[in-house]
Amino acid sequence: MLGIIGGGQLGRMFTMAARSMGYRVTVLEPDKDCPAGTLADVHLCAPYDDSPALDQLAATCLAVTTEFENVSALGLQRLAKSVRVSPSAAAVSIAQDRIREKTFIQGAGLSVAPFAPIESLSDLDQSLKPLLPGILKLAQLGYDGKGQIRVESEEDARRGFIALGEKPCVLEQRLELNLELSVIVARTSPSKVTTFPVAENQHADGILDISLIPARVSEKVAQRAREMALQLAEALDYVGVLAVEFFLLKDQQLIINEIAPRPHNSGHFSLDATLTSQFEQQVRTLCGLPPGDTQLLSPVVMINLLGDLWGNKDPDWSILLNQPNVLLHLYGKSSARPGRKMGHFNVLGDDPESILKEATDLRDQLRP
Ligand code: ADP
Ligand code: MG
Repeated sequence: MLGIIGGGQLGRMFTMAARSMGYRVTVLEPDKDCPAGTLADVHLCAPYDDSPALDQLAATCLAVTTEFENVSALGLQRLAKSVRVSPSAAAVSIAQDRIREKTFIQGAGLSVAPFAPIESLSDLDQSLKPLLPGILKLAQLGYDGKGQIRVESEEDARRGFIALGEKPCVLEQRLELNLELSVIVARTSPSKVTTFPVAENQHADGILDISLIPARVSEKVAQRAREMALQLAEALDYVGVLAVEFFLLKDQQLIINEIAPRPHNSGHFSLDATLTSQFEQQVRTLCGLPPGDTQLLSPVVMINLLGDLWGNKDPDWSILLNQPNVLLHLYGKSSARPGRKMGHFNVLGDDPESILKEATDLRDQLRP
């Protein structure tokens, strides 16, 4: 029996991978209608930090993982006393706080966007001028572009900090991006580690929209991104699946934007286009097995299906299902809301530009 904290779509895809590999799964998730709940062997319907539920995970599972970074690091630490836990509480606590995260990445000898921690209004002084125009980001609990405000001036930054509730933030210089990339690492131990091919990511309204694999970058940039991701996983002594988001700047410089201590939306291509998916890697690394092969079997384009595509009825899935090279993945969510991730589809084919066009055309046909 494997345990996972969180029962959203990432927990669901972990559960599917684990079950097909012969494991049973317990999901800890307070929402009784969650995507992973119906597929798990056991659904503990309780808050993520519920002591009796954590005790039950520890007592019944061989190993426990998480599908998101906002779990209590203390809870993970407690679990780790009696059961194998990956990723570690230490790695999760770095990933869940942008100040700790950026400081750690710099400490590992890798670059991040110029930034300053902002813990109170008095931190917003003259010295921050070089970071403007910038983006003020909540240090904790931000995702999909939420908890971020673009600021042009010091006055803006002060107003933004107040609007964000005067909670700890980072002020980051706004950079001119050439492309956004990501690399997913699967690491069991220093000698059992691998990376997935580099994904090129396009966002819409702060939410991942399209991933293209392979990314349209030089072999040198792709190689460097994979090396940087490995270097970071090494510095974290990471066990599990780690996603590393990069900015490729106009001058071809690569910097790390942020990390996620779990499978990542930009790695969903691996469900269909590599021998081993990122969720199988999560199971493998959790169980101390070596990661599986990650060679790309075919160019692939992934498009997210957000709730915006739902009118008063479900989209016409036959548009996708009629295509032999398109794979649909739905998350089993009962209600669609704008911006809510409901599923995704992967389009495979030999020519990257033509599958990109095919994928966006198909998505246009799905619109209500
Ligand atoms: P989230 O946790 O919401 O994904 P990110 O820090 O990744 O937050 O920011 C979301 C998106 O905003 C990025 O993918 C990128 O498009 C844009 N962005 C973030 N930081 C910067 C920056 N310093 N300069 C330019 N664009 C940025
Ligand atoms: Mg991000």
